This record gives sequence, structure tokens and C-alpha cells, in this order.
Amino acid sequence: MRPFARDAVLSDSRGMSYCYLCGKPIPGTHRHVRRKVKTGEHETKAYLRGRAKSVKTYFGLRLVCRACANRLDRGNLRRELVYHLGPLALLLALFLFSLSLRQ
Ligand SMILES: [Zn+2]
Repeated sequence: MRPFARDAVLSDSRGMSYCYLCGKPIPGTHRHVRRKVKTGEHETKAYLRGRAKSVKTYFGLRLVCRACANRLDRGNLRRELVYHLGPLALLLALFLFSLSLRQ
């Protein structure tokens, strides 16, 4: 068994690995950079109505380059900030609104 057999699909004959997202070659020292990425999508359609009934998205850990890993991390951070700060901002807006009604 070759040492990097698990990455066989992403490696060429010289053992070079490529980023799953952008396809850039990845130096051997960065091979540990893996992120959860979208690997596939399955859509069920209701043909009479013509719109998607359900969409299943599949995720998996894939080898990515530094730039793509950073981009993914930034995206996740933003999603988390919106998730946590969104309701807080809404409460603050309601609070300010109720204050303005009292005057
Ligand atoms: Zn990349």
C-alpha cells in the first residue's frame, strides 16, 4: 500500500496532490489541511409543478490548499456571527423601538 493511497484520486503519478476546490497543486508540507466541503447534491423534482421538492447536499472532508481553507474558515465565521448576532440585533432593535414609543 502506498503511503498516500487515501489521496489516490487527488494525486498524480508523482504523488503530487491538488486542491479539491481550485485544483492548485499542494506542497507536501500542507497535506494536512483538510476542510469539510460540498461533495455532491441530489435534487428531487416534482415535474408537474416544476420546482425542487427536496435538495440533499453531501459534505465530506477533502484536501484543500491554504487559500481555500482560509476562505472556507472566513465563510464559516461570518455564518456564525450572523447566527449569533442576528437575534441580538433584533432584540436591540425591538428595545429601541419600545423606548421610542414611550416618549
Ligand atoms: Zn484551493
